[in-house]
Amino acid sequence: MERRTKRDFRFGVTRLCFTLPATLGDRGLPTPYERLEEPADLARWCVEAGLLPTPPVVDERDLEAAWALRETIQRTGVAIAGGAPPRERDVASINRAAAAVPLVPRLSADGTSSHWSGTTVDSVLSLLARDAIDLFAGPLRGRVKICADETCLGLFVDESRPGQRRWCSMSTCGDKAKKSAYRARLRSQN
Ligand SMILES: [Zn+2]
Repeated sequence: MERRTKRDFRFGVTRLCFTLPATLGDRGLPTPYERLEEPADLARWCVEAGLLPTPPVVDERDLEAAWALRETIQRTGVAIAGGAPPRERDVASINRAAAAVPLVPRLSADGTSSHWSGTTVDSVLSLLARDAIDLFAGPLRGRVKICADETCLGLFVDESRPGQRRWCSMSTCGDKAKKSAYRARLRSQN
């Protein structure tokens, strides 16, 4: 199968735990975009996500763990968005990842800012799994949605007041939908 890759990461999604599933783009296509091709990509992701100040040591096992948690969060989010119970195995995987020592928040000396403290991929994945647990079992559970763009199918949390948001991002999928609706209107006028 042909593999498509993209180097730029997406952090525009609303929730930390969904930034990991967003590393696989165009989920609705037979050949999605892979943004975590090799261990170095995951190391770079940890830094660009603002979780670690410097790239961690990442081996193949770490990368496989990240892929596994990524798809587990995706499947569980899709189930919850559709009002279905998550798979037992997926719940166990999220709980297992969350059981590792997570990154911990640290307050700066002047008390005005904070950063995450930790060095390993396991601690990054633990933080993401804990965030997923908070989300899936918390008040925003009913706001977990799948992007209406059939190519994207990305997860997002609809925090808009009316709760009518349809796309993961207005600047990508929402914009695409607006433009194609506009073109359809033009065609119908001719
Ligand atoms: Zn989308």
